Amino acid sequence: MSTNYYDVLGVGRDATPDQIKKAYRRLARELHPDVAQGEGAEDRFKDVSRAYEVLSNPEKREMYDRGVDPTAPGGGGGFGGAGFGFQDIFENFFGAGPSAGQRGPVPRARRGQDALVRVDIDLADATFGAHRDVQVDTAVLCPTCQGSCCRPGTSPRTCDVCGGRGVVQRVAQSFLGRVMTSSPCAACQGFGTVIPDPCPECSGDGRVRSRRTIPVDIPAGVDTGTRIKLTGQGEVGPGGGPAGDVYLEIRERPHETFVRRGDDLHCTLPVPMTAAALGTVLELETLDGPREIDIRPGTQPGQVVLERGLGVGRLHTGGRGDLHVHVDVQVPTQLDEEQTELLRRLAALRGEERPASRLAAAGSGVFSKLRDKLAGR
Ligand SMILES: [Zn+2]
Ligand SMILES: [Zn+2]
Repeated sequence: MSTNYYDVLGVGRDATPDQIKKAYRRLARELHPDVAQGEGAEDRFKDVSRAYEVLSNPEKREMYDRGVDPTAPGGGGGFGGAGFGFQDIFENFFGAGPSAGQRGPVPRARRGQDALVRVDIDLADATFGAHRDVQVDTAVLCPTCQGSCCRPGTSPRTCDVCGGRGVVQRVAQSFLGRVMTSSPCAACQGFGTVIPDPCPECSGDGRVRSRRTIPVDIPAGVDTGTRIKLTGQGEVGPGGGPAGDVYLEIRERPHETFVRRGDDLHCTLPVPMTAAALGTVLELETLDGPREIDIRPGTQPGQVVLERGLGVGRLHTGGRGDLHVHVDVQVPTQLDEEQTELLRRLAALRGEERPASRLAAAGSGVFSKLRDKLAGR
């Protein structure tokens, strides 16, 4: 163990928590970086803070007394190495610390916000891709001041409250005595400069509201929820800062005949009972135009005819999914006398006047196909 924390604080091994606290306050007052100027004061302040961190915590102090340094990297057992640092202790004592990042002026120009725009598309757009002119309400660079925020011909002036540093230091009273704290300059909002004569068009914001039209190519294969990022197409930031991004969120309108499942499309094709038995060719209006669907003789209800490559475009890999045509065999509900007679003759020829009662095996037939269809398999 390199450092004796009791020596650092100048207390005995039997010091009470109160004595430790008093010793720390005295040393912190003396060594605080905002007060002390001497060489090495900051390092000593860190040593003192580390000693206090250990000795003020009963568990850590006990550990230290047993010969384990709870602040040593990897040696701290359950304390996760260094525990919390001197900065935290400082902030516990003073409220706000000498907040890092508040050491100098902040730039007036800041990045603009991102925007989310919803775009409704049709299934055909998702299948083949589409071109859209997307309108966004946004902020653009002020044409009068070009983002400088100043009336043309004028320029920002150094803030005379903070002298351009963007922060002001003030002396605060605490139980440690007088300490210096830094806070953003209220006169210039921390920018370090003030604008004596703001641009009349943007009121000194450096940007103006505008409606823009962005031409967008929507790739094939997008789906509801797909987001397309348009880098740098968002609003210009305050003070003419860099533009944010626009995200297009795709929403696909349902199609009246085709149901999309991933890259595949599904539809239902009604086929008369006689055509299903005899076989036929039916014309189906697909997204690619009319296609002839070959219904084989003996086609069963629920049977699927697969039309390869007539599905939705694949977003990342290219190519297209398939079109699944589900055959819906339609049994006639109204028969005239002649049709009834014909069907009776057919039934007699096939020996089906009194068909035997047979249950289909589980996992076969229309029900399982229907179940698979609903489950998306
Ligand atoms: Zn302006
Ligand atoms: Zn200022």
